[in-house]
Amino acid sequence: MPANTDLMSRRNAAVPRGIGHATTLYAARAENAELWDAEGRRYIDFAGGIAVLNTGHRHPKVQAAVYRQLEAFSHTAFQVAPYEVYISLAERLNGLAPIDGPAKTALFTTGAEAVENALKIARAFTGRDGVIAFSGGFHGRTALTSALTGKVQPYKKDLGPPQAGIYHLPFPHDSFGISVADTLKSLDFLFRADIDPSAVAAFIIEPVQGEGGFLITPPELLHALREVADRHGILLIVDEVQTGFGRTGKMFTIEHAAVKPDLITVAKSLGGGYPISGVIGRAEVMDAPVTGGLGGTYGGNPVACAAALAVLEVIDAENLLAAADRQGALFTARLEAIAHKNTSLPIRHIRGLGAMIAFDIVDQDGQPDAAATKAVTTKAQALGLILLSCGVFGNTIRLLAPLTASEAVLNEGLDILETALEA
Ligand code: PMP
Repeated sequence: MPANTDLMSRRNAAVPRGIGHATTLYAARAENAELWDAEGRRYIDFAGGIAVLNTGHRHPKVQAAVYRQLEAFSHTAFQVAPYEVYISLAERLNGLAPIDGPAKTALFTTGAEAVENALKIARAFTGRDGVIAFSGGFHGRTALTSALTGKVQPYKKDLGPPQAGIYHLPFPHDSFGISVADTLKSLDFLFRADIDPSAVAAFIIEPVQGEGGFLITPPELLHALREVADRHGILLIVDEVQTGFGRTGKMFTIEHAAVKPDLITVAKSLGGGYPISGVIGRAEVMDAPVTGGLGGTYGGNPVACAAALAVLEVIDAENLLAAADRQGALFTARLEAIAHKNTSLPIRHIRGLGAMIAFDIVDQDGQPDAAATKAVTTKAQALGLILLSCGVFGNTIRLLAPLTASEAVLNEGLDILETALEA
């Protein structure tokens, strides 16, 4: 039996169906923007481990930092025997994050864990329970974060009762027929119908919706939320788990809107492939939970901290913010050309910020075509390109290639994408 098929049948016997897969390949090794499967087939990787690999697979500087840390120790628990590499990473993030005044950082392991802790911190600081999130937003799959996530199928159905204190506003976008004014009107109704602003701890919002379809949050909405938050003593949490660390041409995507949040959640590309996440925030807010109220056995694991410090160094040394803008321009130009070919499937709404680029696949009537989108990702895999879809209608292709990828490899991937999009 071919290795991939063999591994799939073992996987099916040993692992529940609830964990889905974007491809049918099984990874064997990877390097920067390339990956080889269990049968030795090579792929260009435009998924980056779901937005984790802005610095590519196995960046040599990240590898070296990890090896150095492994030689010293790999785990003590920061709550038992704390260590410098955690403090250094917190100092670095505090210096980089667009937070007003002094900042502090607490480190965790996954994006969902960072979001959960941001909520705990916001609730402890404000003494309030309410949280307002957005339809189509994604904040994780734990019990609390899937409640924040603004999509029922597959994240909530059959997975327990709604969590108290969580409310959703419609996310403003042309494709939903919702304007920023509509969203703010809904907020006004929410404050009158469901929860008084004095009971709301926080707004949580992605500066670009990731899983929701790479929809850019209008800066006017971010400014309006900041203003409403300030007026009512509500905190503004910005979830940068998918958008952070250079993906959109800035270290933090919220910098595009020039809004200062109270708390920022980070994960994914911070670790360059090692599990680490964090909450960065205004020092007085971060200090609200009592000693022992925050933490976790593996939070801020030293190997992952060492990797993250190296990632931040690489973003700087290799000028990856500028690389993101170049990659975005290349992708957008190629996609515009493909969209004008009459042999291509109909593609619409080429959009993005920096290298966070996506487009939609529609049918002859211009309606979202999830089946055609699935067919494109399947064909791309057969041709040697790993692609991810997303979006509330399942018809968005998102591009998350490493920012360290060479132009030659990016063009090779785009050539495959062009072929996969042939009608
Ligand atoms: N927030 C956002 C914006 C995300 O995109 C994700 C993951 N896709 C998460 C939170 C959850 O992160 P994790 O899967 O590491 O728990």
